[in-house]
Amino acid sequence: MRNPALRVQKREETEIYCPCRAIIRLRHRLFGRKGILFTDETVLSLYSEKLRSLGFPVFAMKAGEEYKTKETLFSLLQAMAEGEIGRDGVLVAVGGGTVTDVGGLAAALYMRGVECIYVPTTVLCAVDAAIGGKTAVDFCGVKNLVGAFRQPEAVYIDPAFFLTLPPRELTSGAGEIVKHAALSGELFDLIRGQEEKLKTPAFLASVLPQNIAVKASFVKRDPFETEGLRAALNLGHTTGHALELGEGLSHGEGVLVGIAYEAELARRFLKADEAYLDELLEMVKKVLGGPVGEYDPSLYVPRTRLDKKNRGGQIVLTVPTGKGETAPLALSQETYRSALRDIREGFAEKEGTC
Ligand code: NAD
Repeated sequence: MRNPALRVQKREETEIYCPCRAIIRLRHRLFGRKGILFTDETVLSLYSEKLRSLGFPVFAMKAGEEYKTKETLFSLLQAMAEGEIGRDGVLVAVGGGTVTDVGGLAAALYMRGVECIYVPTTVLCAVDAAIGGKTAVDFCGVKNLVGAFRQPEAVYIDPAFFLTLPPRELTSGAGEIVKHAALSGELFDLIRGQEEKLKTPAFLASVLPQNIAVKASFVKRDPFETEGLRAALNLGHTTGHALELGEGLSHGEGVLVGIAYEAELARRFLKADEAYLDELLEMVKKVLGGPVGEYDPSLYVPRTRLDKKNRGGQIVLTVPTGKGETAPLALSQETYRSALRDIREGFAEKEGTC
């Protein structure tokens, strides 16, 4: 006889406030609660007074992707234990995607799960990392190899934080916006011709809600990336991740270059709308502000061997094929590598960088 299935209920809802005055709202939400505020040293130095006004003990990691490690994760868990945070405690992560990824994972692990709240301070985090519940640290030289799904209780997006972002971080955020534009014809039309404005905090803030809606629409239909739908959000990422670790590009810069190469892969291996791909490439180059042929992703293909999307030894990418349309593309490592090498030669020739 088969035993009855065990069915468990999970809270799947995240409240998203955008735009809002995050600190004021948080003061109300956190009243009477105990927890820890997790951030990085750069954000803490810029916003110390605001953050400390929340009255939580503060733990700051060193800033940057290179510290998205198990060591940082365990230091944070230790700070939570030493601060005697209980099962009803809350972790408030204030920072970019590095902070929310590590903070969210700590919240998923500590006492098998405590609540977390995110306050994204980079554009990239606001439009992408903070939405959808993916958390992770890098491990064994592979990005996001160890992680968990953990939906935050709430996300507070306050564009005032973007005013202190260096230009490269604005470009990085714009990279994920271009990815969303490649997934949504409506957003593509909204941004097309206004690419330069994507680096101004005011325009960025104005397109935040549409970006969040694009991401949320995929997450809602496939929260744990089991249906294949959420894979579309990885557009540009397989190629981009390798460049991020190999060439020191920021996450969004890697995604931008990744979209350019993956658009060319679509042109080679699938039936795609060529005129649209030309427009998408132009958008990428305008936002990146430089040639894409300078980067050679073929050099980093071995790093994609542990990509979570790989199946049966093949690299599985999601590539753009038309306005608001994508398709899966499975290639052997060798075909992927040699196609990237050819595509790079083509870019370098056209851009005069060879
Ligand atoms: P980040 O968090 O490393 O921040 C980039 C830099 O900007 C850091 O030096 C940080 O200190 C600084 N910074 C942050 N806010 C600032 C502010 N307001 N003013 C001035 N400086 C500020 O990087 P990121 O680009 O925000 O996020 C990248 C990370 O997000 C990557 O690790 C990526 O894997 C992850 N990510 C996760 C998801 C997801 O779904 N979980 C999605 C996309 C990206």
